Amino acid sequence: RSMSSVSVPPPKCLQKTFVAPRRHMFGPGPSNVPPRILAAGAEPVIGHMHPEMLEIMSDIKSGIQYAFQTENNMTIAVSGTGHTAMECAIFNAVEPGEGVLTAVNGIWGERAAEMAERIGAKVNSIVTTAGGYFTSEEIDQALAKHKPVLFFLTHGESSTGVVHPLDGIGDICHKHNCLFLVDCVASMGGAPLYMDKQGIDILYSGSQKVLNAPPGTAPISFSERKCKNNYKNTLFNRKTKPVSFFLDMTWLANYWGCDGKPARIYHHTAPVSAFYALRESLAILAEQGLENSWQRHREVAEYLHEGVENMGLKLFVKDKNARLPTVTTIVAPPGYDWKEITSYIMKNHNLEISGGLGPSVGQVLRVGLMGGNSSKASVDMVLEALRDALRYCHKSKV
Ligand code: PMP
Repeated sequence: RSMSSVSVPPPKCLQKTFVAPRRHMFGPGPSNVPPRILAAGAEPVIGHMHPEMLEIMSDIKSGIQYAFQTENNMTIAVSGTGHTAMECAIFNAVEPGEGVLTAVNGIWGERAAEMAERIGAKVNSIVTTAGGYFTSEEIDQALAKHKPVLFFLTHGESSTGVVHPLDGIGDICHKHNCLFLVDCVASMGGAPLYMDKQGIDILYSGSQKVLNAPPGTAPISFSERKCKNNYKNTLFNRKTKPVSFFLDMTWLANYWGCDGKPARIYHHTAPVSAFYALRESLAILAEQGLENSWQRHREVAEYLHEGVENMGLKLFVKDKNARLPTVTTIVAPPGYDWKEITSYIMKNHNLEISGGLGPSVGQVLRVGLMGGNSSKASVDMVLEALRDALRYCHKSKV
């Protein structure tokens, strides 16, 4: 036996060939990645600053501008998941000691508050029940009371299945000299959204929901209102540097060619393959058309709602207009253990639906039908799986 200098041996588990399971991804995300997007991601890797790559980034920027309905120059994809974009938005928009108001009708407003707290912001929240949303008056009053520099709202609350109305809220924020930050990770492409028309100052999303790209890249855009000097706290006129070097928009703006400077400076190595896939997913959305995509998601969601109610189950969001077309919350069937239902469906139908998250844990089942998964055929599969689970899962006598 030869002497080895390493004391940790090569792991046996890595000798096994890896094959990912084929599965219907009908939970709140990630969604199934279609072959065309997988193939784009499998193209050879090139340098992150090669001219072809800069062109891909420019295409991605145009694709995001379309998906967000914005002409903002400061539009990029951050290297990371939805949480990365959330932190990018908050870290760049707020300085320590400044006020932030978050709207909490599920987990995302709670998370945004926690992120803002971590950078030393003064955070207040308005809170409503899971499944509910806020009126413009409630938002107006809270902004008048707390005078924040930033207001956070989730468009598609994936933990509760609510799509929040956006019309008019941007104007209310601006009346109070406050920037309007919106999370559209779970709604972009699946529900109408107009960044410029709705006066949204910062908007971010994710790659793994309606876009059907692998997780790991996150579109984000900053309005001119944010970038120019008419607000006290502007993107490039800060007293302090953002706490994160990685997420500093002065660096990212240059890296994405948004700052008008001729030279691109290396900031980080872009996830090249993930950008290929993101570009392809945006190309598919552009081909299909946003309005068609919005309409299809709505029709498929309504077909699901009908099927669920016909089975004798109840929808968690009572107000029909507030039902998020991408993620449907179903009241957890009384008498059943929801975990048994989701495991049964995974095991016997090779299909993911999920339980609740944050305030909806134990209360709901969540079905996400996003992008290519948004079809009546998927709904039929989900309903069949649910019917089967209700037949075979244990119903307690309590
Ligand atoms: N916001 C919303 C509304 C989401 O649904 C999610 C993902 N479930 C996120 C933010 C966070 O995204 P990620 O998991 O990609 O970090």
